[in-house]
Amino acid sequence: MSRVYNFSAGPAVLPEEVLQEAADEMLDYRGCGMSVMEMSHRSKVYDQIIKEAEADLRELMNIPDNYKVLFLQGGASQQFAAVPMNLMKNKKAGYIVTGQWAKKAYQEAKMYGEAVELASSQDKTFSYIPDCSDLPITDDMDYVYICENNTIYGTKFKELPNTKGKDLVADVSSCFLSEPVDVTKYGVIYGGVQKNIGPAGVVIVIIREDLIRDDVLAGTPTMLKYKTQADNDSLYNTPPCYGIYICGKVFKWIKKMGGLTAMKEHNEKKAKILYDFLDQSKLFKGTVVKEDRSLMNVPFVTGSEEMDAKFIKAAEKEGFVSLKGHRTVGGMRASIYNAMPIEGVEKLVEFMDKFEKENA
Ligand SMILES: *Cc1c(COP(=O)(O)O)cnc(C)c1O
Repeated sequence: MSRVYNFSAGPAVLPEEVLQEAADEMLDYRGCGMSVMEMSHRSKVYDQIIKEAEADLRELMNIPDNYKVLFLQGGASQQFAAVPMNLMKNKKAGYIVTGQWAKKAYQEAKMYGEAVELASSQDKTFSYIPDCSDLPITDDMDYVYICENNTIYGTKFKELPNTKGKDLVADVSSCFLSEPVDVTKYGVIYGGVQKNIGPAGVVIVIIREDLIRDDVLAGTPTMLKYKTQADNDSLYNTPPCYGIYICGKVFKWIKKMGGLTAMKEHNEKKAKILYDFLDQSKLFKGTVVKEDRSLMNVPFVTGSEEMDAKFIKAAEKEGFVSLKGHRTVGGMRASIYNAMPIEGVEKLVEFMDKFEKENA
């Protein structure tokens, strides 16, 4: 067996330990004679799996009791609709547009009410986070929406926006569990797990209880009502059972690694190695303003499409895979999520240095 260094933005690298454990349990989960894939989501065994996953996530993120944790399907993209459907009481909300995912959410919200663009960084291809200290937030807005870590462009909100008392809704798909978080600052935190937590097919929604209502927008499908899912502990219908099971294992792995504080240190250390290299390189350049750099997604370019392609090809040969930038941006992007070991980044930088010398 030979594993590559996988820099994919998502679905992405998972801890090897977790995959090994899942492999060991594949045919016979802890003596019950079947795989987790094969068991009823209403069985006692599965009940323990999902309850334990929730308890571990609550512990990791220090989630207060007045927040519900939902394990859902439909990916982050379905939440682009679920959020306005459930929360747009006044049919008006503010969106901060810092990348394609935020923009998609903003556009989707427009289908259900008045979505107002409060700020945007599109003028400089989303290479920075706009000043969010005094946004034109009005009293009738139901919430303020951000995409906290911009997976494609590699920026991150280092400070949350001043929402002027409005509830903050955040898509944290690509920075979920990458550092400690104060849940009380948010009304809703959600993310697809396939970036930093688990396999595709699960989206986690953490929502303050008073935002879970019956009087959602007319026409909201039963499945998309947070109340349906909350009242049924994510078991209204069949949940993505196996995906949740893997997420649970990743939660335990993070706990073992020392929790979110340790994760942050680990991630800062990794990102620094790569950013320090980029800052001194004459061939490679980071594309994002320094203050807003993501710890998770690091886009960079050489300035020549030909050279970018040559680098990506050469890197792949050496076992550094999925370094191609998003199709809309070009260049390279190294996603260095929680499960990327420090050696992966060290070796990548070594390779980049060698490539630079050879192509000077
Ligand atoms: C990947 C991603 C999405 C889309 O996720 P899906 O689960 O594919 O819908 C949304 N937001 C962010 C920040 C992402 O990184």
